[in-house]
Amino acid sequence: MANNENHKIIRVNMTEMSVNIKDFREDWKYLGGRSLSARILLEECDPGCDPLGPKNILVLAPGVLSGSSAPTSGRLSVGCKSPLTGGIKEANVGGNPGQDLLRLGYRAIVVTGQPAAREKRWGLEIKPEGVRLVAADDYAGMWNYASCEKLFSHYPQTASAISIGPAGERMYKSASVACTDRERERRPARHAARGGVGAVMGSKCLKWILVDPGKAPTRKPANPSAFSAFHKKFSKDYLAARHKTFEWGTSAVIPVANMLNTFPYRNRTAGRNPHFEGLDGARIRESFEKRGGGMHNCMNGCIVKCSNMVHDKDGNYVTSALEFETLTLLGSCCDINDWEEVAILDRLCDELGMDTIEIGAAIAVLMDSGGMQWGDANAAKALLKDEIAKGTDLGVLVANGVSSVGRKRGHHRVPVVKGQAVPAWDPRSMKATGVTYATSAMGADHTAGLVINPAIGGEAAVLASQESQIVNAVCDSSGFCLFLQPSIDEIRQFYNAFFGDELSNEALADMGWQCLQEEWEFNRRAGFSSEDDDMVKCLREEGIGPDNAIKFDIPRDLLAKAKVRQPVSDTLFYGTAAG
Ligand code: SF4
Repeated sequence: MANNENHKIIRVNMTEMSVNIKDFREDWKYLGGRSLSARILLEECDPGCDPLGPKNILVLAPGVLSGSSAPTSGRLSVGCKSPLTGGIKEANVGGNPGQDLLRLGYRAIVVTGQPAAREKRWGLEIKPEGVRLVAADDYAGMWNYASCEKLFSHYPQTASAISIGPAGERMYKSASVACTDRERERRPARHAARGGVGAVMGSKCLKWILVDPGKAPTRKPANPSAFSAFHKKFSKDYLAARHKTFEWGTSAVIPVANMLNTFPYRNRTAGRNPHFEGLDGARIRESFEKRGGGMHNCMNGCIVKCSNMVHDKDGNYVTSALEFETLTLLGSCCDINDWEEVAILDRLCDELGMDTIEIGAAIAVLMDSGGMQWGDANAAKALLKDEIAKGTDLGVLVANGVSSVGRKRGHHRVPVVKGQAVPAWDPRSMKATGVTYATSAMGADHTAGLVINPAIGGEAAVLASQESQIVNAVCDSSGFCLFLQPSIDEIRQFYNAFFGDELSNEALADMGWQCLQEEWEFNRRAGFSSEDDDMVKCLREEGIGPDNAIKFDIPRDLLAKAKVRQPVSDTLFYGTAAG
């Protein structure tokens, strides 16, 4: 490698119970996180396989710059064939495991196969001395927080953990993969949430992965003075301007989102919530003074610190982070308008290891179809604790996501694209984001290409979505968090100083496009066609806003242009990533 890094891939075969350490390909230097996951899945995973069978592959890949001192660059991508969508999936997560893996020189963990004894549980221990599978039967069925507490009674507090809760073990299609944050308590509060990636980890009987970096150093740049100079300039500029967006976390956006008709209420029958003040992030911020909690960074080296730590009235920790998406889907969409109730629901989802977007949307459809009272927070809590945790019929139905509930209850309003619940940002008022939902290989996923601009539609929305999808693919491959909002031009300057290369913006944008093409190709081989690149009927036919006139109105033939490379413009290179 340009700066003589000797990187490796950990290959774990759960059929043979073997661990092999392989050299990382030099020509894959700029593949990391999402793009590395896409390449490995396209080359090695049978797209027609059963997502919960032995032929699926689970990839855990830090970004290209993870483990270095580049700011906010330690994100981890978790990829596989999704049991929720049937297509390729990349779920991106913070916490410390991404940083720790690349400090040890590991560019990916690739887990294949499936043990014959399905009742067994295994842990993967990654230490400076080596990597090995260890028996973890005594963790079976444990909730994430207790499981990580037990882990850290055996391993150093400086280590980090990747784990699944009971939802992953039960292979629910909403199951997430949890990562511990950097706080002393090492809480499993960060989640690679979408697409059921936790179910795939569960299908391999892998309960946890422990990464102990020991005294491994941070990665050194090839050009330290150029790297340090750009690091300083970028961080200074970022903190002076862009940081304001996430100073108080994503929950602070709620009043604006409500005004813009993108704070969906009661299963998206309205774009605004008349009771939005009870969910406004300002309430959380106000609580810090009396209860404790506050803003923090979930990984070493994050300069954004967008994560809120939420405490209850007695000053006890409840959850972290309580995000805009969770407050919308588990709160507003279910007419639960008290942030404290949503905090408890969020903690329960983190404990069981589930995607709060998918579960919130599924409960909203259950309520909309008469299966639960609107706004009944206690019933929602009981559903999580007594039905989903115990695997009752109702619990399995909801934990398998919004399509599962909609199908069973024969409901007409099921906001979903490619089998995955539509996130908070509403495709009717944010049409370019709707183009992303319709055309991304991931299904409805705001992190695949979020465009917060209610003023554009038609062809302009298609172009904006494509550019955002490219920028986000580059960002999700770099290790930078989307909330840092780096542009392609800024990521290029970090790469060039780190590796001592002279990459152009065009070359980096081409890498992002290549990643998207590989994801689309995986889906094509899995049986997807252009028919699947569309917006769900209910969001085309049912409007929101004044006179219910705001609908998703971009025709299918125009949507198709998002997958045809458009002429390059400056906004592609200098526009910022968003999620
Ligand atoms: S910006 Fe927020 S989510 Fe991203 S790494 Fe920092 S604290 Fe975590």
